[in-house]
Amino acid sequence: MLTGRRALITGSTSGIGLGVARALAAAGCSVMLNGSREAAAVEATRRELEGQAGVPVAYHQADLTRPAEAETLVAATVAQLGGLDILVNNAGIQFTAPVEDFPPELWDRIIALNLSSAFHTIHHALPTMKAGGWGRILNVSSVHGLVASVRKAAYVTAKHGLVGLTKVVALETAGQGITCNAICPGWTRTELIEPQIVALAAKLGVSVEEGGRALLAGKQPSGQFVAIEHLGQLAVFLCSNAAAQITGTAIPIDGGWTAQ
Ligand code: NAD
Repeated sequence: MLTGRRALITGSTSGIGLGVARALAAAGCSVMLNGSREAAAVEATRRELEGQAGVPVAYHQADLTRPAEAETLVAATVAQLGGLDILVNNAGIQFTAPVEDFPPELWDRIIALNLSSAFHTIHHALPTMKAGGWGRILNVSSVHGLVASVRKAAYVTAKHGLVGLTKVVALETAGQGITCNAICPGWTRTELIEPQIVALAAKLGVSVEEGGRALLAGKQPSGQFVAIEHLGQLAVFLCSNAAAQITGTAIPIDGGWTAQ
């Protein structure tokens, strides 16, 4: 469906980003993977994906808390894949603490990665998309881009900001063959939320598996984690021609979390 499209997915060495990369590669895209780890640590994943999908898969290490590295990541994608049609801003981290205990350096780091890095990649990618007359930008926000939870000041602020950025980019690109949307997942079982599951299990004195169920029970009415594969399929749909008029949206995929 997306044969020949060139996709950059930030933070795609694990979790949701890797799932989106797998789905886009399976749909025919050549793919640029990214993470802050050295290339050697990611080589097995890169090679596996390339072998499975039969498309070119590259990797570029970049610490996206640094604006200059976002610029070189976009430039490396254009150079290595021959262009850039699909940009998925997915890289993100979490830290939880009440506002008065929240370390200011972690506030800065979360805003830099979870919000500002998306501005920098979009800023550098848009001229290429506009020149080609086609583009898809997906910002992986969160249910926390739509509603808040305690102890997540920086994360909730960044994810709400990402929804705002999505709307502005959608308006500025409307009618030019380019769309920009936010995906807002609920609990998805990845390395990012594992510390929260472990902490809740310890607090309740139960197993990690029961901790996972308790985490879901608190927020996600379905009682089930969002499947990484389903997030990948949503990304592929948003990149399809059928989604040409879907732009500026923030789409929850959250087992009913934000319906409450
Ligand atoms: P994850 O920890 O598996 O993935 C995070 C990715 O970001 C990794 O590839 C990591 O290498 C990369 N990364 C971390 N620091 C980086 C840096 N400085 N520069 C570049 N890359 C960096 O977690 P995940 O759950 O897959 O998270 C992916 C996105 O999904 C995040 O933006 C997260 O906020 C969002 N999200 C996750 C959930 C969930 O329940 N897991 C829910 C909603 C939204």
